[in-house]
Amino acid sequence: MDNFHFSRPTTLTEATAITPPPTGAFRFIAGGTTLVDLMKLGVETPSLIVDINTLPLDTIEPTPDGGLKIGALVRNSALAQHPAVLRNYAVLSQALLSGASPQLRNMATTGGNLMQRTRCIYFRDTVYACNKRTPGSGCSAIDGHNRTLAILGASEHCIATNPSDMNVALTALDATVHVQNKGRERTIPIQSFFLLPGDTPHLEHPLEPGDLITHVTLPPPIPGVQTIYLKLRDRASYEFALSSAAVVLGISDGKIHRAQFAMGGIATRPWRSSEAEHLLQGRAPSAALFRQAAETALHGAHPRSENGFKVELAKRCLVRALTLATKTA
Ligand SMILES: Cc1cc2nc3c(=O)[nH]c(=O)nc-3n(C[C@H](O)[C@H](O)[C@H](O)COP(=O)(O)OP(=O)(O)OC[C@H]3O[C@@H](n4cnc5c(N)ncnc54)[C@H](O)[C@@H]3O)c2cc1C
Ligand code: SF4
Repeated sequence: MDNFHFSRPTTLTEATAITPPPTGAFRFIAGGTTLVDLMKLGVETPSLIVDINTLPLDTIEPTPDGGLKIGALVRNSALAQHPAVLRNYAVLSQALLSGASPQLRNMATTGGNLMQRTRCIYFRDTVYACNKRTPGSGCSAIDGHNRTLAILGASEHCIATNPSDMNVALTALDATVHVQNKGRERTIPIQSFFLLPGDTPHLEHPLEPGDLITHVTLPPPIPGVQTIYLKLRDRASYEFALSSAAVVLGISDGKIHRAQFAMGGIATRPWRSSEAEHLLQGRAPSAALFRQAAETALHGAHPRSENGFKVELAKRCLVRALTLATKTA
């Protein structure tokens, strides 16, 4: 591991006033479950690390409009078990509990989970070319081992998936990310928070150096909806998704009045299809309708040598999640 400078500010003002070093990366550290691993592998080589664990960002509070404010330092396990989340945003709790292990969830934070890096094996091994790690070096995955990688939202420069479960649920719930930097506050809707790789896969978020995520807000709960997170993976626990679906579904008088969903494990960012959601609106739920929505959501899927199975898997995952949400409605 390379040498780095270390700082532990005690106030938000201090943490967001830090000037990024002229050379080398500047990283905040929260739970450390992503960053420390990547530093040991030589993938992340920050010259300045700012420990934010002493900042007052670990609370969950109602917002004035009836939504929920989740501090960036709220641990994944605390968020999953919070009564307001269990009551009003169960899909978020289910997504969090499907991820990693209890020990990791006790350390992992909301801000760190939003920012976690891809699990593409070539990104994590500095022997291989990787445009995300070293811009312009090439992508070893496109003609290499790509079984777990993206079939949607990819480019000829990167096909890495966003590995997070929490991010899929936050996308289905229309969360907003709140950021501070040198006294300036910004809000970023979750759907704009994850950038497509295009020809700059090293740029993953619309964040500038020194931007600190302070909290995430959820809109008020939608009355009369059922929510489900379904995760399909190679083994039943401690494994990333091959395909997942976070579904928010409202049915009344035999018709769908609300349909929001996002898919994970198949795309370079949590994948939402407004066309597929519109298709469900006002229609009676049925297996045929859900299959049609899944075909629409997967429209344009571009599988590579090893991940063609994900196209059908993702469709079945979405159909199953919608069906489960219907049964509980
Ligand atoms: C073995 C293993 C299995 C896993 N399985 C899963 C899984 O199945 N599903 C899943 O979703 N995840 C899984 N994870 C990933 C885990 O959820 C993440 O490592 C964790 O959420 C990261 O949070 P952290 O607080 O530890 O982040 P850190 O490691 O502290 O930080 C990660 C990144 O976020 C940045 N950062 C952190 N906080 C902020 C902030 N407030 N503002 C701006 N930047 C910030 C850091 O600079 C760093 O770049 C797994 C991890 C491991 C090691
Ligand atoms: S898919 Fe992306 S992360 Fe993986 S090797 Fe290619 S450029 Fe790197």
